[in-house]
Amino acid sequence: MIDREPSCEDVDEPVLLPVSEARQRIAAALSPLTESLRLPIGEALGRVLSESLHAPHDVPAAANSAMDGYALCRSSIPTRGEVKLQLLGTAWAGRPFAGSVAQGQAVRIFTGALIPAGADTVVIQERAQEDGDGVLIDCEVEAGRNVRAAGEDVAAGDEILSKGRCLEAADIGVLASLGVDRVAVVRRPRVAFFTTGDELQALAPGNDGATAPYGKLFDSNRFTLAALLESAGVEAIDLGIVPDEADMTRQILLQAASRADVVITSGGISAGDADYVTRAFHAIGDVAFWKIAMRPGRPLAFGHIGDAAFFGLPGNPVAVMVTFLQFVQPALRRLLGRVDIDPLTLPARCLSSLRKSAGRVEYQRGVMRVDAGAIVVESTGKQGAGRLSSMSSANCLIVIGAEVSHVSPGDTVDVQPFRGLLSG
Ligand code: AMP
Ligand code: MG
Repeated sequence: MIDREPSCEDVDEPVLLPVSEARQRIAAALSPLTESLRLPIGEALGRVLSESLHAPHDVPAAANSAMDGYALCRSSIPTRGEVKLQLLGTAWAGRPFAGSVAQGQAVRIFTGALIPAGADTVVIQERAQEDGDGVLIDCEVEAGRNVRAAGEDVAAGDEILSKGRCLEAADIGVLASLGVDRVAVVRRPRVAFFTTGDELQALAPGNDGATAPYGKLFDSNRFTLAALLESAGVEAIDLGIVPDEADMTRQILLQAASRADVVITSGGISAGDADYVTRAFHAIGDVAFWKIAMRPGRPLAFGHIGDAAFFGLPGNPVAVMVTFLQFVQPALRRLLGRVDIDPLTLPARCLSSLRKSAGRVEYQRGVMRVDAGAIVVESTGKQGAGRLSSMSSANCLIVIGAEVSHVSPGDTVDVQPFRGLLSG
Protein backbone atom coordinates (compact mmCIF):
# COMPACT_ATOMS: atom_id res chain seq x y z
CA MET A 1 0.00 0.00 0.00
CA ILE A 2 1.06 3.54 -0.58
CA ASP A 3 1.37 5.19 2.77
CA ARG A 4 0.48 8.79 2.06
CA GLU A 5 -2.90 10.34 1.61
CA PRO A 6 -3.56 11.23 -1.99
CA SER A 7 -4.70 14.68 -2.90
CA CYS A 8 -5.16 16.83 -5.94
CA GLU A 9 -1.87 18.53 -5.06
CA ASP A 10 -0.15 15.39 -6.26
CA VAL A 11 -1.08 16.34 -9.76
CA ASP A 12 0.72 19.65 -9.55
CA GLU A 13 3.93 18.07 -8.36
CA PRO A 14 6.62 19.49 -10.65
CA VAL A 15 8.69 16.30 -10.99
CA LEU A 16 7.73 14.60 -14.22
CA LEU A 17 8.61 10.98 -14.92
CA PRO A 18 10.18 10.32 -18.34
CA VAL A 19 8.21 7.92 -20.55
CA SER A 20 11.11 5.43 -20.75
CA GLU A 21 11.44 5.39 -16.98
CA ALA A 22 7.70 4.75 -16.56
CA ARG A 23 7.91 1.92 -19.09
CA GLN A 24 10.86 0.37 -17.27
CA ARG A 25 9.07 0.56 -13.93
CA ILE A 26 5.99 -1.09 -15.43
CA ALA A 27 8.02 -3.88 -17.07
CA ALA A 28 9.89 -4.48 -13.81
CA ALA A 29 6.62 -4.77 -11.89
CA LEU A 30 5.22 -7.45 -14.22
CA SER A 31 6.24 -11.06 -14.87
CA PRO A 32 5.33 -13.11 -17.91
CA LEU A 33 2.34 -15.42 -17.46
CA THR A 34 3.43 -19.00 -16.88
CA GLU A 35 0.32 -20.89 -17.94
CA SER A 36 0.23 -22.25 -21.44
CA LEU A 37 -2.03 -24.38 -23.57
CA ARG A 38 -1.66 -26.44 -26.70
CA LEU A 39 -3.57 -25.19 -29.69
CA PRO A 40 -4.12 -26.52 -33.21
CA ILE A 41 -1.94 -24.43 -35.51
CA GLY A 42 -5.04 -23.22 -37.35
CA GLU A 43 -6.02 -21.36 -34.17
CA ALA A 44 -2.55 -20.11 -33.26
CA LEU A 45 -2.20 -16.98 -35.39
CA GLY A 46 -1.18 -14.04 -33.18
CA ARG A 47 -0.54 -16.29 -30.19
CA VAL A 48 2.82 -16.31 -28.42
CA LEU A 49 4.92 -19.49 -28.21
CA SER A 50 5.55 -20.65 -24.64
CA GLU A 51 8.43 -22.89 -25.65
CA SER A 52 10.99 -22.90 -28.46
CA LEU A 53 10.33 -25.24 -31.31
CA HIS A 54 12.92 -27.46 -33.00
CA ALA A 55 12.45 -29.10 -36.37
CA PRO A 56 11.60 -32.79 -35.89
CA HIS A 57 12.96 -33.58 -39.37
CA ASP A 58 14.29 -32.06 -42.58
CA VAL A 59 12.14 -29.96 -44.90
CA PRO A 60 12.07 -30.99 -47.64
CA ALA A 61 12.39 -34.52 -46.34
CA ALA A 62 14.19 -35.66 -49.51
CA ALA A 63 15.76 -33.98 -52.53
CA ASN A 64 13.20 -32.98 -55.15
CA SER A 65 13.05 -31.15 -58.41
CA ALA A 66 12.65 -27.38 -58.60
CA MET A 67 11.71 -27.52 -62.31
CA ASP A 68 10.06 -29.64 -64.99
CA GLY A 69 12.80 -31.46 -66.93
CA TYR A 70 14.99 -34.56 -66.93
CA ALA A 71 16.82 -36.05 -63.96
CA LEU A 72 20.27 -37.50 -64.54
CA CYS A 73 23.66 -38.00 -62.98
CA ARG A 74 25.85 -35.05 -63.95
CA SER A 75 29.13 -36.97 -63.94
CA SER A 76 27.71 -39.52 -66.40
CA ILE A 77 27.38 -36.99 -69.27
CA PRO A 78 30.01 -34.99 -71.18
CA THR A 79 30.91 -31.48 -69.99
CA ARG A 80 29.51 -29.84 -73.15
CA GLY A 81 27.68 -30.60 -76.36
CA GLU A 82 24.64 -32.81 -76.64
CA VAL A 83 24.05 -36.37 -75.58
CA LYS A 84 21.23 -38.81 -76.07
CA LEU A 85 20.07 -40.61 -72.95
CA GLN A 86 17.71 -43.54 -72.55
CA LEU A 87 14.40 -42.41 -70.97
CA LEU A 88 13.48 -44.80 -68.15
CA GLY A 89 10.14 -43.38 -67.06
CA THR A 90 8.58 -40.48 -65.20
CA ALA A 91 8.85 -39.04 -61.67
CA TRP A 92 5.70 -37.13 -60.73
CA ALA A 93 5.14 -34.92 -57.72
CA GLY A 94 3.70 -37.34 -55.19
CA ARG A 95 4.49 -40.41 -57.32
CA PRO A 96 8.22 -41.12 -57.17
CA PHE A 97 10.07 -43.07 -59.84
CA ALA A 98 10.83 -46.48 -58.30
CA GLY A 99 14.03 -47.40 -60.13
CA SER A 100 17.44 -45.80 -60.23
CA VAL A 101 19.24 -43.82 -62.91
CA ALA A 102 22.53 -45.15 -64.24
CA GLN A 103 25.05 -43.89 -66.80
CA GLY A 104 23.42 -43.07 -70.11
CA GLN A 105 19.94 -42.84 -68.60
CA ALA A 106 17.47 -40.10 -67.58
CA VAL A 107 14.01 -39.86 -66.01
CA ARG A 108 11.34 -37.39 -67.04
CA ILE A 109 10.69 -35.33 -63.87
CA PHE A 110 8.18 -32.70 -62.77
CA THR A 111 8.47 -29.92 -60.20
CA GLY A 112 8.24 -31.27 -56.67
CA ALA A 113 8.93 -34.89 -57.65
CA LEU A 114 11.60 -36.77 -55.70
CA ILE A 115 14.98 -37.02 -57.42
CA PRO A 116 15.36 -40.69 -58.35
CA ALA A 117 18.21 -42.74 -56.89
CA GLY A 118 21.39 -42.26 -58.90
CA ALA A 119 20.40 -38.79 -60.21
CA ASP A 120 21.71 -35.50 -58.82
CA THR A 121 20.84 -32.90 -61.46
CA VAL A 122 17.79 -31.75 -63.43
CA VAL A 123 18.10 -30.38 -66.95
CA ILE A 124 15.14 -28.14 -67.69
CA GLN A 125 12.76 -29.28 -70.43
CA GLU A 126 13.62 -26.23 -72.54
CA ARG A 127 17.16 -27.67 -72.88
CA ALA A 128 16.04 -31.14 -73.90
CA GLN A 129 14.25 -32.79 -76.77
CA GLU A 130 12.53 -36.15 -76.59
CA ASP A 131 13.47 -38.39 -79.46
CA GLY A 132 11.90 -41.86 -79.70
CA ASP A 133 12.72 -43.82 -76.54
CA GLY A 134 15.39 -41.34 -75.55
CA VAL A 135 16.02 -37.69 -74.87
CA LEU A 136 18.60 -35.31 -76.33
CA ILE A 137 20.13 -33.26 -73.55
CA ASP A 138 22.14 -30.05 -73.68
CA CYS A 139 25.14 -30.84 -71.48
CA GLU A 140 25.73 -27.21 -70.34
CA VAL A 141 24.48 -27.81 -66.80
CA GLU A 142 26.13 -27.63 -63.39
CA ALA A 143 25.92 -30.59 -61.04
CA GLY A 144 23.03 -30.25 -58.60
CA ARG A 145 21.21 -27.73 -60.77
CA ASN A 146 17.42 -27.39 -60.22
CA VAL A 147 17.48 -29.73 -57.24
CA ARG A 148 16.08 -28.71 -53.87
CA ALA A 149 18.26 -30.50 -51.34
CA ALA A 150 16.86 -32.36 -48.34
CA GLY A 151 16.77 -30.00 -45.36
CA GLU A 152 17.34 -26.98 -47.60
CA ASP A 153 14.39 -25.12 -46.06
CA VAL A 154 14.67 -26.41 -42.48
CA ALA A 155 17.22 -28.92 -41.17
CA ALA A 156 16.25 -31.48 -38.52
CA GLY A 157 17.08 -30.16 -35.04
CA ASP A 158 17.24 -26.49 -36.04
CA GLU A 159 15.46 -24.10 -33.71
CA ILE A 160 12.78 -22.82 -36.04
CA LEU A 161 10.70 -20.61 -33.77
CA SER A 162 11.80 -19.35 -30.40
CA LYS A 163 9.89 -18.94 -27.18
CA GLY A 164 8.18 -15.55 -27.02
CA ARG A 165 7.54 -15.47 -30.76
CA CYS A 166 4.20 -14.03 -31.80
CA LEU A 167 3.06 -16.40 -34.55
CA GLU A 168 2.50 -14.93 -38.00
CA ALA A 169 1.06 -16.44 -41.15
CA ALA A 170 4.46 -17.67 -42.41
CA ASP A 171 5.18 -19.32 -39.05
CA ILE A 172 1.92 -21.23 -39.20
CA GLY A 173 2.94 -22.45 -42.68
CA VAL A 174 6.39 -23.53 -41.44
CA LEU A 175 4.77 -25.50 -38.62
CA ALA A 176 2.46 -27.23 -41.08
CA SER A 177 5.40 -28.00 -43.38
CA LEU A 178 7.00 -29.83 -40.46
CA GLY A 179 3.88 -31.81 -39.72
CA VAL A 180 3.51 -30.02 -36.37
CA ASP A 181 -0.23 -29.71 -35.83
CA ARG A 182 -0.28 -28.27 -32.30
CA VAL A 183 1.85 -25.71 -30.50
CA ALA A 184 2.22 -24.60 -26.90
CA VAL A 185 1.18 -20.97 -26.52
CA VAL A 186 0.92 -18.60 -23.59
CA ARG A 187 -2.55 -18.19 -22.13
CA ARG A 188 -4.16 -14.93 -23.22
CA PRO A 189 -4.06 -12.31 -20.49
CA ARG A 190 -7.54 -11.40 -19.21
CA VAL A 191 -8.03 -7.68 -19.19
CA ALA A 192 -11.03 -6.13 -17.43
CA PHE A 193 -11.82 -2.52 -18.20
CA PHE A 194 -14.34 0.17 -17.46
CA THR A 195 -14.77 3.86 -18.07
CA THR A 196 -15.61 6.42 -15.41
CA GLY A 197 -17.58 9.65 -15.56
CA ASP A 198 -21.04 10.98 -14.77
CA GLU A 199 -21.04 12.69 -18.16
CA LEU A 200 -20.84 9.41 -20.07
CA GLN A 201 -23.71 8.07 -22.10
CA ALA A 202 -23.69 4.40 -23.06
CA LEU A 203 -24.27 3.74 -26.71
CA ALA A 204 -27.56 1.91 -27.02
CA PRO A 205 -28.28 -0.50 -29.88
CA GLY A 206 -30.23 1.33 -32.56
CA ASN A 207 -28.88 4.74 -31.52
CA ASP A 208 -27.98 5.19 -35.17
CA GLY A 209 -26.19 8.52 -34.96
CA ALA A 210 -28.70 10.28 -32.67
CA THR A 211 -27.17 12.86 -30.30
CA ALA A 212 -26.46 12.16 -26.63
CA PRO A 213 -28.77 13.76 -24.04
CA TYR A 214 -27.91 17.36 -23.17
CA GLY A 215 -24.74 17.52 -21.06
CA LYS A 216 -23.73 13.94 -21.84
CA LEU A 217 -21.24 12.52 -24.28
CA PHE A 218 -20.99 9.08 -25.79
CA ASP A 219 -18.59 6.75 -24.06
CA SER A 220 -16.16 6.26 -26.91
CA ASN A 221 -13.24 5.14 -24.75
CA ARG A 222 -14.81 1.81 -23.93
CA PHE A 223 -15.07 0.99 -27.63
CA THR A 224 -11.55 2.26 -28.32
CA LEU A 225 -10.19 0.17 -25.46
CA ALA A 226 -12.14 -2.92 -26.53
CA ALA A 227 -10.75 -2.58 -30.04
CA LEU A 228 -7.19 -1.95 -28.85
CA LEU A 229 -7.40 -4.99 -26.59
CA GLU A 230 -8.75 -7.14 -29.39
CA SER A 231 -5.84 -6.08 -31.62
CA ALA A 232 -3.44 -6.81 -28.77
CA GLY A 233 -4.64 -10.44 -28.73
CA VAL A 234 -5.94 -10.50 -25.17
CA GLU A 235 -9.24 -11.54 -23.63
CA ALA A 236 -11.16 -8.37 -22.87
CA ILE A 237 -13.83 -8.11 -20.18
CA ASP A 238 -16.01 -5.01 -20.57
CA LEU A 239 -17.37 -3.86 -17.20
CA GLY A 240 -19.27 -0.88 -18.55
CA ILE A 241 -19.47 2.68 -17.28
CA VAL A 242 -18.97 3.45 -13.63
CA PRO A 243 -20.31 6.77 -12.31
CA ASP A 244 -18.15 9.20 -10.34
CA GLU A 245 -18.92 7.57 -7.05
CA ALA A 246 -16.39 6.21 -4.54
CA ASP A 247 -18.01 3.00 -3.25
CA MET A 248 -19.10 1.84 -6.65
CA THR A 249 -15.66 2.54 -8.13
CA ARG A 250 -14.02 0.57 -5.36
CA GLN A 251 -16.42 -2.36 -5.71
CA ILE A 252 -16.00 -2.65 -9.44
CA LEU A 253 -12.23 -2.35 -9.14
CA LEU A 254 -12.16 -5.24 -6.68
CA GLN A 255 -14.46 -7.30 -8.84
CA ALA A 256 -12.33 -6.55 -11.90
CA ALA A 257 -9.10 -7.44 -10.09
CA SER A 258 -10.52 -10.76 -8.90
CA ARG A 259 -11.20 -11.97 -12.44
CA ALA A 260 -8.48 -10.41 -14.55
CA ASP A 261 -4.71 -10.21 -14.91
CA VAL A 262 -4.93 -6.54 -15.82
CA VAL A 263 -7.48 -3.86 -14.96
CA ILE A 264 -7.76 -0.72 -17.05
CA THR A 265 -9.87 2.34 -16.35
CA SER A 266 -10.27 5.61 -18.19
CA GLY A 267 -10.92 8.96 -16.59
CA GLY A 268 -10.99 10.27 -13.08
CA ILE A 269 -7.29 10.75 -12.52
CA SER A 270 -6.66 14.27 -13.77
CA ALA A 271 -6.33 17.52 -11.86
CA GLY A 272 -9.69 18.79 -10.76
CA ASP A 273 -11.18 15.31 -10.50
CA ALA A 274 -12.83 14.63 -7.21
CA ASP A 275 -10.65 12.71 -4.81
CA TYR A 276 -12.99 9.76 -4.90
CA VAL A 277 -11.26 7.80 -7.69
CA THR A 278 -7.82 8.45 -6.31
CA ARG A 279 -9.05 7.38 -2.91
CA ALA A 280 -10.73 4.31 -4.26
CA PHE A 281 -7.53 3.27 -6.03
CA HIS A 282 -5.39 3.93 -2.97
CA ALA A 283 -7.79 2.26 -0.60
CA ILE A 284 -7.71 -1.12 -2.26
CA GLY A 285 -4.41 -1.41 -4.03
CA ASP A 286 -0.79 -0.50 -4.29
CA VAL A 287 -1.26 2.21 -6.84
CA ALA A 288 1.04 5.10 -7.68
CA PHE A 289 -0.07 8.22 -9.48
CA TRP A 290 2.53 9.38 -11.91
CA LYS A 291 2.90 12.62 -13.73
CA ILE A 292 4.58 11.59 -16.94
CA ALA A 293 6.68 13.99 -19.00
CA MET A 294 4.47 13.49 -22.02
CA ARG A 295 1.61 15.06 -23.87
CA PRO A 296 -1.11 14.02 -24.16
CA GLY A 297 -1.40 11.69 -21.21
CA ARG A 298 0.38 13.37 -18.37
CA PRO A 299 -1.47 11.65 -15.52
CA LEU A 300 -1.21 7.87 -15.29
CA ALA A 301 -1.98 5.57 -12.43
CA PHE A 302 -0.16 2.27 -12.24
CA GLY A 303 0.12 -0.44 -9.67
CA HIS A 304 -1.48 -3.62 -8.43
CA ILE A 305 -4.88 -4.40 -7.00
CA GLY A 306 -4.48 -7.82 -5.47
CA ASP A 307 -2.63 -9.86 -8.10
CA ALA A 308 -3.91 -7.79 -11.00
CA ALA A 309 -1.87 -5.07 -12.64
CA PHE A 310 -3.75 -1.80 -12.75
CA PHE A 311 -3.62 1.02 -15.30
CA GLY A 312 -5.61 4.17 -14.67
CA LEU A 313 -5.56 5.99 -18.00
CA PRO A 314 -6.68 9.58 -18.48
CA GLY A 315 -10.21 10.17 -19.78
CA ASN A 316 -9.25 12.20 -22.77
CA PRO A 317 -9.88 10.02 -25.84
CA VAL A 318 -6.55 10.75 -27.57
CA ALA A 319 -4.67 10.35 -24.30
CA VAL A 320 -6.33 6.96 -23.83
CA MET A 321 -4.92 5.74 -27.12
CA VAL A 322 -1.51 7.31 -26.66
CA THR A 323 -1.04 5.97 -23.13
CA PHE A 324 -2.35 2.57 -24.18
CA LEU A 325 0.22 2.39 -26.99
CA GLN A 326 3.09 3.65 -24.81
CA PHE A 327 2.41 1.71 -21.62
CA VAL A 328 -0.40 -0.85 -21.76
CA GLN A 329 0.54 -2.53 -25.04
CA PRO A 330 4.18 -3.07 -23.94
CA ALA A 331 2.90 -4.37 -20.59
CA LEU A 332 0.58 -6.86 -22.31
CA ARG A 333 3.48 -8.01 -24.52
CA ARG A 334 5.56 -8.51 -21.39
CA LEU A 335 2.81 -10.62 -19.80
CA LEU A 336 2.73 -12.69 -22.97
CA GLY A 337 6.48 -13.30 -22.70
CA ARG A 338 7.33 -11.37 -25.84
CA VAL A 339 10.86 -10.06 -26.09
CA ASP A 340 10.51 -6.86 -28.09
CA ILE A 341 7.87 -5.04 -26.15
CA ASP A 342 8.43 -1.34 -26.81
CA PRO A 343 6.58 0.45 -29.61
CA LEU A 344 8.34 0.20 -32.97
CA THR A 345 10.05 3.55 -33.58
CA LEU A 346 11.46 4.62 -36.95
CA PRO A 347 13.19 7.77 -38.14
CA ALA A 348 11.26 9.84 -40.67
CA ARG A 349 11.71 13.15 -42.46
CA CYS A 350 9.06 15.53 -41.27
CA LEU A 351 7.34 17.58 -43.97
CA SER A 352 5.38 19.80 -41.57
CA SER A 353 6.37 22.57 -39.24
CA LEU A 354 5.51 21.44 -35.69
CA ARG A 355 5.36 23.46 -32.51
CA LYS A 356 5.27 22.21 -28.97
CA SER A 357 6.23 23.33 -25.52
CA ALA A 358 9.60 22.13 -24.23
CA GLY A 359 9.90 19.83 -21.24
CA ARG A 360 7.62 16.98 -22.24
CA VAL A 361 7.68 14.42 -25.04
CA GLU A 362 4.83 15.09 -27.39
CA TYR A 363 2.97 12.47 -29.37
CA GLN A 364 1.44 14.24 -32.33
CA ARG A 365 -0.72 12.52 -34.89
CA GLY A 366 0.87 12.02 -38.27
CA VAL A 367 0.47 10.37 -41.64
CA MET A 368 3.59 8.57 -42.76
CA ARG A 369 4.39 7.20 -46.18
CA VAL A 370 7.36 6.20 -48.25
CA ASP A 371 8.53 8.84 -50.70
CA ALA A 372 11.48 8.09 -53.02
CA GLY A 373 12.59 5.23 -50.77
CA ALA A 374 12.52 7.20 -47.51
CA ILE A 375 9.89 7.53 -44.79
CA VAL A 376 8.30 10.96 -44.65
CA VAL A 377 5.62 12.13 -42.26
CA GLU A 378 3.09 14.93 -42.19
CA SER A 379 1.06 16.24 -39.30
CA THR A 380 -2.70 15.61 -39.34
CA GLY A 381 -3.14 19.27 -38.39
CA LYS A 382 -4.67 20.57 -35.18
CA GLN A 383 -3.56 18.46 -32.24
CA GLY A 384 -6.19 19.07 -29.56
CA ALA A 385 -6.09 16.18 -27.10
CA GLY A 386 -9.83 15.66 -27.38
CA ARG A 387 -9.77 15.29 -31.17
CA LEU A 388 -10.18 11.58 -31.57
CA SER A 389 -10.75 12.08 -35.28
CA SER A 390 -7.09 13.20 -35.56
CA MET A 391 -6.14 9.72 -34.35
CA SER A 392 -8.41 8.11 -36.87
CA SER A 393 -6.93 10.03 -39.79
CA ALA A 394 -3.38 9.31 -38.56
CA ASN A 395 -1.36 6.16 -39.16
CA CYS A 396 1.46 6.99 -36.76
CA LEU A 397 2.46 9.04 -33.78
CA ILE A 398 5.17 11.63 -34.33
CA VAL A 399 7.35 11.51 -31.22
CA ILE A 400 8.95 14.86 -30.48
CA GLY A 401 11.63 14.82 -27.80
CA ALA A 402 11.16 16.65 -24.49
CA GLU A 403 13.91 19.17 -25.19
CA VAL A 404 12.64 20.09 -28.68
CA SER A 405 10.36 23.10 -29.03
CA HIS A 406 10.09 23.32 -32.81
CA VAL A 407 10.38 20.97 -35.76
CA SER A 408 11.08 22.51 -39.18
CA PRO A 409 10.22 20.86 -42.49
CA GLY A 410 13.13 18.56 -43.39
CA ASP A 411 14.01 17.71 -39.78
CA THR A 412 14.23 14.07 -38.78
CA VAL A 413 11.69 12.93 -36.20
CA ASP A 414 10.77 9.58 -34.68
CA VAL A 415 7.53 7.97 -35.76
CA GLN A 416 5.63 5.09 -34.23
CA PRO A 417 3.40 3.42 -36.81
CA PHE A 418 0.20 2.11 -35.28
CA ARG A 419 -1.68 0.94 -38.30
CA GLY A 420 -1.25 -1.50 -41.14
CA LEU A 421 1.75 -3.67 -41.87
CA LEU A 422 4.14 -1.96 -39.53
CA SER A 423 1.93 -1.88 -36.45
CA GLY A 424 3.76 -4.86 -34.96
P1 AMP B 1 -11.21 12.93 -17.04
O1 AMP B 1 -9.82 12.37 -17.19
O2 AMP B 1 -12.13 12.00 -16.36
O3 AMP B 1 -11.15 14.27 -16.42
O4 AMP B 1 -11.76 13.11 -18.51
C1 AMP B 1 -11.26 14.10 -19.35
C2 AMP B 1 -12.20 14.34 -20.51
O5 AMP B 1 -12.16 13.22 -21.38
C3 AMP B 1 -13.66 14.46 -20.13
O6 AMP B 1 -13.99 15.79 -19.88
C4 AMP B 1 -14.41 13.94 -21.31
O7 AMP B 1 -14.59 14.96 -22.25
C5 AMP B 1 -13.43 12.97 -21.92
N1 AMP B 1 -13.81 11.61 -21.56
C6 AMP B 1 -13.67 11.00 -20.36
N2 AMP B 1 -14.08 9.74 -20.42
C7 AMP B 1 -14.51 9.53 -21.68
C8 AMP B 1 -15.05 8.40 -22.35
N3 AMP B 1 -15.22 7.24 -21.73
N4 AMP B 1 -15.37 8.52 -23.66
C9 AMP B 1 -15.18 9.70 -24.30
N5 AMP B 1 -14.66 10.79 -23.71
C10 AMP B 1 -14.34 10.73 -22.41
MG1 MG C 1 -14.00 12.15 -15.49
